[in-house]
This record gives sequence, C-alpha cells and structure tokens, in this order.
Amino acid sequence: MPQTHAIYAHPGEDLLSAVLQQFDVHDDHLFNITRTFLREMWDGLESYGHDMAMIPTFVRSTPDGSEKGTFLALDLGGTNLRVCEVNLHGDKTFSLRQQKYKVSDALKTGEATTLFDYLADSVDAFLTDSGSPTCALPPSLTPRDLTEASDPVDVHGSYIPLGLTFSFPVEQTALDSGKLLTWTKGFSAKNAIGNDVVKLLQDAFDRKHMHVRCVALVNDTVGALLSRAYTSGGCILGAIFGTGTNGAYVEDVANISKLGRSEEVKEGGLMVVNTEWGGFNNSRSALPSTPYDKKVDRESINPGKQGFEKFISGMYLGEIARNVIVSLIDVAPKSLLFSGHSSKQLNKQWGVDTAVLSEVEEAWEGIGRFAPEDSSRQPSVQQKLERIRDVIVRRMELPPDSVSLDDADIIRKICTHIAWRAARLSACAVAAVLVQTGRARLTRGDEEAKNTVTLVDEGKRIGVGVDGSLVEHYPYFEKKLRASLRVLVGDDVEHRVDIGLAKDGSGVGAALCALVACRQNITKQY
Ligand code: BGC
Ligand code: MG
Repeated sequence: MPQTHAIYAHPGEDLLSAVLQQFDVHDDHLFNITRTFLREMWDGLESYGHDMAMIPTFVRSTPDGSEKGTFLALDLGGTNLRVCEVNLHGDKTFSLRQQKYKVSDALKTGEATTLFDYLADSVDAFLTDSGSPTCALPPSLTPRDLTEASDPVDVHGSYIPLGLTFSFPVEQTALDSGKLLTWTKGFSAKNAIGNDVVKLLQDAFDRKHMHVRCVALVNDTVGALLSRAYTSGGCILGAIFGTGTNGAYVEDVANISKLGRSEEVKEGGLMVVNTEWGGFNNSRSALPSTPYDKKVDRESINPGKQGFEKFISGMYLGEIARNVIVSLIDVAPKSLLFSGHSSKQLNKQWGVDTAVLSEVEEAWEGIGRFAPEDSSRQPSVQQKLERIRDVIVRRMELPPDSVSLDDADIIRKICTHIAWRAARLSACAVAAVLVQTGRARLTRGDEEAKNTVTLVDEGKRIGVGVDGSLVEHYPYFEKKLRASLRVLVGDDVEHRVDIGLAKDGSGVGAALCALVACRQNITKQY
C-alpha cells in the first residue's frame, strides 16, 4: 500500500489511481474481515473489556405487532434529540407525535448534569406544548393492572412512563439501568462515564419535579430491531448506519458465556445483544486503513477507538474525503485539484459533511432535481459534472473559476470510492451476524468450519431493520451493501434478507421497551 510520501513521486492519473486504489476492498479481504469480525464477536460474548462490547440488553423477546399502549420516548442520538409520544395500535401500526431539539457542541462537551437537565427541559417543553399527557402510570400498579391497562391511563398525580433511547455504549444491568462505558460521535460530556444514565436522567426529572419516570433504556440498534419486529412480524438484526454505526441481534443466551450462571442463563432462551460493532478491530489489524484514515483517527476526540465506525459512518466519511482532497490540492509540483486553490471550509476539520458526498453522488446518478427543461431526459455526463461542480463551489466554498469539470470528476471518484468501501465493510458486519445466528455460511471458508454450522430457518425470510442517515439518504448504500453481502453469503441467503427501514425506530423501540418494563413491573415501586 503506498505511503503518503509516495504521493509526491507520481504525477497525474497514476497518482490519482494510486490514492483511490487504497480504498478498494477486494473479495478476499471481505472474507478475512468477516472471519475476524466473528472472532471478535465471540471474544466479546465470552468476557468483558474487548473491542466489541457485546452487551446483553435484558430484552428477552421481540414484539409481534400486537403490543398496545401510549408511551413517551426520548431519543438522544448522534445528531438529534427527539421527544415523542408513541401510540402503538396493536395491529403492527403506530402513530407518533414528535419534536426535535438541537444539541449544541457546548452541551455535548460540557457537564453531564447540564446535558441531562437539557434533556429533561426538552421533555418538559414537549409536555407543555402538547397539552396534558395521554399516557400515565399510576403510583401503585401491579403487573396485572398494567397488562390490562393497555389504553392510556390518565390519573392526576401519577407518573408518565418514558423509554430512553440512548445511542452510546451502555453496559446494561437491567432493562432500566446501565452505566455509560464511553462516549462516541463527538460527545464528551464530563462526569457521565461510569454512571447510570437512567439515574442521571431521572435525577434531572426529579430536580424539576416532573412526573415522568424513566422505565426503560435502549440502544438505537435495539430500537430498530424491536420496531422492525413490531411492524413486520419478525426481525433478527437491527442496524444503524448513520452518524455512527452499530448492530443489535437476537442471540441464544447459552452463547453469552460472560453472563456466567446468572438467572438469565438458567432460564435459557434468547436475548438481544448490542454488539457495539463500531468498536470492531480497533487495532486495525484486519481493516484496510489508509494514511487518510489514520489522520482522521488521530485528530478525532477518541483516537484508537471506534475503529470500524470511522470507516463507515456519516460522522467520518466527509472528513476522510476532505483529507484526500486536501492532499491532492497539495501535490507538488503540479496540484491535482482546483489549480492548487483551497478554502477555509476545506481547511478546517469536519469542513466537509458526508451530505456533500451524498449530493455529489446524487448528481452523478442523475437523482433529484435538474433544471426543469432537463427533466424528461437523462442528463449528459457534461451536465452531471456541471451539477457536481455547483455542489463543490457551494459546499466547499471555492471560487467558481477554480473548479473545472475535471476536478468535479475527480471529486466524484473520491466520493464513490469512500462510499463503496463503507458499504462493503458494512456487509461484513451483517454477514457475520447471519453466520453467528445460523442463518448463513460464508461461501468461502474451510470446509470443516462450514460443516459444524447448523443452519436454522432455511428458506425463510430474514428480517433486518435499519436506520440512519446513510441508509436513508446516501444513494444506493443498501444496494452496494447487498452486492457485497451476496459475495459473502451467496445469492440465496442475500435474497431472503429483508432489509427494511425502521422509520422512527428509536421512538417506537423505546416505547416497546417501556411497555415490556411496565408489564414486568420491574422491581421498583412507583
Ligand atoms: C454508538 C452506538 C450507537 C451507534 C449508532 C455508536 O457510536 O457507540 O451505541 O448504536 O453509534 O447510533
Ligand atoms: Mg438516531
């Protein structure tokens, strides 16, 4: 693999292809990565402290669509904070009212209590704006009452049950408690790591004398899994490809050996495991790391962490592209981009958002709105490049006459390579889960290992719920992921994988968990 200094040795096309080639992931490599992924999954299931945390969630079953009730959900993700009231209709459908709030950088990096006070304020504002709550949990309900109380209960002075979707690694000890292992995605609020996030939130509610009780805590991947199961009748994997990336899947409790001889293990059955696959292969021994990736990692808030996430998720793809672009501007003696011009925007860390890559690819694929007179025919290559040039000028804040159509073409290639790599690596994670759950065998591998895997549910649909800005908005992300999945697990399995957008998965998932928590009347007395 060429080193950075090698860039200065070759002019022109050769240099460009040398740079781009570093982003190619060949089929052999896909298999290696998937095998390493499986090994790291097993390590994580066996004991604590590995790259992939493989967190037991205490969610023991998935919904079937018959669940009913109205719940409040609070969703703290990578980019948004959302408060919603979710109404599960009990017929696989739901309705939802929500309000988004902005989380400033100051909140992300300040004191944890300030952040949690803000979360509580947002819930308060939502409840105030939306009038009297339609969901409530009276102080002394028994599990039986709760099962029957599927319709909203409105008792003055009672508590409103809330499910919290918290999209960070939390080591759960119960459905309603768990301590934050580490921050990711640019968060670094002080005095949160090691603390129980439910308690942090509940304390904030209590400080404000709010009648809200946080009864359940879920990761967004678990939310995606549960909500997809609710709307489609079955799901084995919930995955997020957004600002961050991660997956949660349904595991046999017997395989979670780190649970020891706990009650859960004695009962047997299934449990949802939050893999925290963003942390896969932090050593980068198997990941196709380039000097650009190393730079992004080194300058990030969490160097050496979230190795896999930094190749895949929306927070980083734009930043990888920016580093490639700047290095090509700087090539001597003759710049390869923008006649050697750069801009303030391009020079600053995080100056290129992944949405820019997405816009460039949309233009190239002819997606979206071209000028009305063009709408009836496919735009020509020239028109597409002109549109890409517009995106570059606008989003990278460059003077129009410094961006040529050749530049636009180079930028387009950079974006495509980075996105393809992200999708191919994502497929490794999905394939590993399919193998781990007995849904697939790798199409290449030692025969011995193949024969020991007993496949389950052969011929059946395999439900996968996904969410996040990349799957939702990046052109053909899912198609690219599927193409690589086919290589890994074969056409038949890939064909049966039913990937569906878990729209509002975080809200619905939190509501479903709150429902389970209420039904279990978890040890606490209200
Ligand atoms: C977090 C996960 C989360 C994922 C997607 C990662 O950075 O560690 O907990 O599920 O982002 O939001
Ligand atoms: Mg989210």
